[in-house]
Amino acid sequence: MMNVPLTVGSLLERAEKYFAKKQVISRTHSRIHRLTYKEIGERTRKLAHALEGLGVKRGERVGTLAWNHHRHLEAYFAAPGMGAVLHTINIRLSPEDITYIINHAEDQVLLIDEDILPLVEKIHHHFKTVKAYVIMTDQEELPETSLSPAYSYEKLIEDKDPNYAFATDIDENEPAGMCYTSATTGKPKGVVYTHRGIVLHTFALGLTDTVGLSESDIAMAVVPMFHVNAWGMPFACTWFGSTQVFPGPQFHPKLLAELIEQEKVTVTAGVPTIWIGLLQVLEQGNYDTSSLRAVLCGGSAAPKGIIRIFETKYKIPFLHAYGMTETTPIALLSRRKSYQTDLSEEELLDLRAKQGMLVPGLEMKVIGDKGEVKWNGVEMGELLIRGPWIANEYYKDDRTKDAFKDGWLHTGDVAVVDEEGVVKLVDRTKDLIKSGGEWISSVDLENALMAHEAVLEACVIAVPHQEWQERPIACVVLKDAYKNKVEKEELQEFIRPQFAKWWLPDDVLFLDEIPKTSVGKFQKMALRKQVNEQLNNMA
Ligand code: AMP
Repeated sequence: MMNVPLTVGSLLERAEKYFAKKQVISRTHSRIHRLTYKEIGERTRKLAHALEGLGVKRGERVGTLAWNHHRHLEAYFAAPGMGAVLHTINIRLSPEDITYIINHAEDQVLLIDEDILPLVEKIHHHFKTVKAYVIMTDQEELPETSLSPAYSYEKLIEDKDPNYAFATDIDENEPAGMCYTSATTGKPKGVVYTHRGIVLHTFALGLTDTVGLSESDIAMAVVPMFHVNAWGMPFACTWFGSTQVFPGPQFHPKLLAELIEQEKVTVTAGVPTIWIGLLQVLEQGNYDTSSLRAVLCGGSAAPKGIIRIFETKYKIPFLHAYGMTETTPIALLSRRKSYQTDLSEEELLDLRAKQGMLVPGLEMKVIGDKGEVKWNGVEMGELLIRGPWIANEYYKDDRTKDAFKDGWLHTGDVAVVDEEGVVKLVDRTKDLIKSGGEWISSVDLENALMAHEAVLEACVIAVPHQEWQERPIACVVLKDAYKNKVEKEELQEFIRPQFAKWWLPDDVLFLDEIPKTSVGKFQKMALRKQVNEQLNNMA
């Protein structure tokens, strides 16, 4: 067969050629933009030309600090198209971490959203390699800024070549993208994506048995473009010619509901906290969500209670998926097999709440105390994954040796596998609760609690215990309508029938909110610290 390199630039070329008329709908600070792929293609090429003019060379990093919008999409293709590396930076990290990341990746140029400017202005004097700042503003004129040299995006690309040719000699194993993931301890860790890895992952998103993205979709990635390339959606939607909707800066659940209704979104993707927020809005207003064929949910465990409402009340199929920054990210996805026709509603929801089956192209094993676990839904072990879109190291980082061993990525996630090969995550290795020498899954307890109508969010953590080493404590945020109206005993009784006695949380604490990570996941480490301090003060 021909050895034709798989390159990111070619994904956009297909959209320019075959889907020139189709649209990218993008919300920015000032308005909604509607651009065709023809326009996106020309603007992307102009941007690539501009980046070259700013001195960006092959293999060098172009950083972005931005929300989900069309300019960010253009950067997704401009940097890899010219042979540079797109480095998406998580704008919700601390200023210290952002500084570390920019210096560690040695970013040459930063593309920055207008509202992120104040943050960058505070820390830019620590940057060691940045040669230029491009402000992604709707205005041709530059907003006032202390950054230098700084350019307005629109002004910068204005006179550049709309036919600028992408590099044609790119080896598919060259880096195309980069993303840092926050570590539980220490500085964030960098993962580099090759052209080949991104393209193969893009194929995977189009498979009917995974997300099945296609030309007919109107796709809205709510997951930030700085969180593992918005799970690869911008690459896949562009290649397949789907219409794309970008919710832009500082969106809120009401805006998402409006966009779904107005733009007739067919598929959308985000972490569970986004869908918890959206459901609250749907409950209050009268929105037409009938266009949705799938809500893709990943990043942390999707609570069964949420899946139930989407599927039974709103008739929106819920696609639960699992992945990591290190896996580009889609690795597992939960779908019913064709012969599983006799599942009861409850069994089907249980299946949807599992993380799912391995995506074609990848390999996995689950390793327990005595080697590979049996597929019996009971034996627990750490999930190991390998495949063509799985990273094999952290970028210039000693912690590579902790996670990448013998050709496998050690995910740090503890899982069971059922007879059908469907994976269910029970915890992070660091979050498992060990009571009297036996493991308790915090995820199962959280799921059970979140199925109660009064519960908005539930997070179960371990607290030290003299006799049992550790015991589970549940931290619960009640929905507004139920505040101060539900006692902890009611919640304990509610979940009692589902668990062995020793699994039940010793206490239920009602909180105003659960601390979240920069990508909207429960931050268990911070919560454990907070609860332990609270308990010590009470003692
Ligand atoms: P990140 O690299 O920030 O995306 O985090 C990856 C981690 O998120 C994984 O190792 C899991 O612990 C967690 N995760 C991702 N998807 C899921 C899911 N569907 N259910 C439970 N945990 C998940």
